[in-house]
Amino acid sequence: MTRRLLPSQAVGFANEYNSAAMPEALKQHVEACYQRAEQHFQRRFARPEISIKLRGQKAGVAHLTENKLRFNWVLYQANQHDFLAQTVAHEVAHMIAHQLYGLRIQPHGPEWQSIMREVFKRPATRCHHYAITRTPRTHYLYQCGCAEPMPFTGQRHQRVRRGAGYLCRRCKQKLIFSGETRQQ
Ligand SMILES: [Zn+2]
Ligand SMILES: [Zn+2]
Repeated sequence: MTRRLLPSQAVGFANEYNSAAMPEALKQHVEACYQRAEQHFQRRFARPEISIKLRGQKAGVAHLTENKLRFNWVLYQANQHDFLAQTVAHEVAHMIAHQLYGLRIQPHGPEWQSIMREVFKRPATRCHHYAITRTPRTHYLYQCGCAEPMPFTGQRHQRVRRGAGYLCRRCKQKLIFSGETRQQ
């Protein structure tokens, strides 16, 4: 079950994705985009299901056939103004383009671009420009004959623990876990 928080209360719980409530402003901007599109094209568009639980580096994702929009709550909190102005329009434009033209168009092709420019009066930029803060990951330091240890990802380290072996490309010696880790 989702705990409902007011947007003001939700600030500061960036790691508790499950308690992130749908911000009212975000919902309203999505709706405003749909109303503008309906006015422009003089037809109805089915409203999407909206989720705020997208994780990782993307600000938003449009699931066209499921008519579902997923937004990234952490990035929303960090870039609210730009998010509402640009990301919401970007993703809604995908949905509108899909309902108008179906699956035969390119995602960021001329149809999508013209909806961005002519309907939403926004630049038709493909990528969001938010500074992405990476969550540091644990790397496992492996030693060979070289001076510098070689960092292994957790996945690769697990493979070694299950019996896989790796040789250093430079010195051709076997890479052995040093017992040390590094956050990077
Ligand atoms: Zn896109
Ligand atoms: Zn080596």
